[in-house]
Amino acid sequence: MASSRRTFVTGSAAAAAGLAAGAAEPAAAQGAAAKPAFPVAVTTIPIVGSAEVFPVRRIYCIGRNYAAHAREMGSDPSREPPFFFQKPTDAIQLVPANGVVDHPYPTLTRNYHYEVELVAALKSGGRDIPIDKALDHVFGYAVGLDMTRRDLQRAMGDEKKPWEIGKSFDRSAPIGPIHPAAQIGHFTDGAISLSVNGTVKQNATLKHMIWSVAEQISRLSAANELFAGDIIYSGTPENVGPVVKGDVILCKIERLPDLSIRIV
Ligand code: MN
Repeated sequence: MASSRRTFVTGSAAAAAGLAAGAAEPAAAQGAAAKPAFPVAVTTIPIVGSAEVFPVRRIYCIGRNYAAHAREMGSDPSREPPFFFQKPTDAIQLVPANGVVDHPYPTLTRNYHYEVELVAALKSGGRDIPIDKALDHVFGYAVGLDMTRRDLQRAMGDEKKPWEIGKSFDRSAPIGPIHPAAQIGHFTDGAISLSVNGTVKQNATLKHMIWSVAEQISRLSAANELFAGDIIYSGTPENVGPVVKGDVILCKIERLPDLSIRIV
C-alpha cells in the first residue's frame, strides 16, 4: 500500500543520512531492507499554509517549567534542573485551528487535568546543541495540551514508580496545526491562557518559563540525540486543574490560533 511504502522509503533515507553523518542509527531504520509485515500508522501534524505534513518522531515534555506551577506541584523552582518525560507518538490528537474536537475522558482516573503548553517542532537535531544555535533547529510552533491523569501521576510519584500511566496514555497530547517559524518567528514572550466553559483558569506569559525553548533543546540534546520530527511540549503555567465530561477547554497563545476540545 502506498502509505506504508512511503514510510519504508522515508525510514531508509533517514538511516542513510544518519549513517553518512556518523549519527546514531535510528532504531526504526534497523533492518530497513526488509518489507514490514504489516503497515503501522505514522503520526503527522498539519502544517499551516502547506500541503505537506509534519511527521512526528518523538514527543518530549518538560516538567515544572514555570515557577508558580512548580510550587503548586510541591517543588522548589529555584533549585531544580530541568527534567523531561515522553509521551508515545500516537498520543497525538489533532485539533483543527479554531475548531472543537471531542476528547474522551480517559479510563482509570477521577482527577483529569489540563496543562496548556507551547509546543516546539524540530526540523533537525543533533547532540550537545549550544543554546545560541538551538532555535535554528525549530521548524515551527503549535498550541498543545499535556493532558494528565493527576491522581495516577501523584500516586505513582508517591510510590517512586514511573509517571507513565499518568502522562503517556492514548490521546494525552491534543495539538493544533504547526506554524512555521519562518513565517511567525520564535516565542520568547506572549500571553498563554486556558479557560474552561468560558472561565479563565490558567493565565500567564511565556516569559515566565524557567528554561526557554532554546535552553530546553540544548539540555535535551545532552541527554538524547535529537532528530527532525521531535516535538517538545515546553511546560505549563500555574493553576492546572480538573475537567469533567461536558467541559469545553479553550487554549490561547498569542500569535497562534485557539485550540479547543470538549471532554466527552
Ligand atoms: Mn506539562
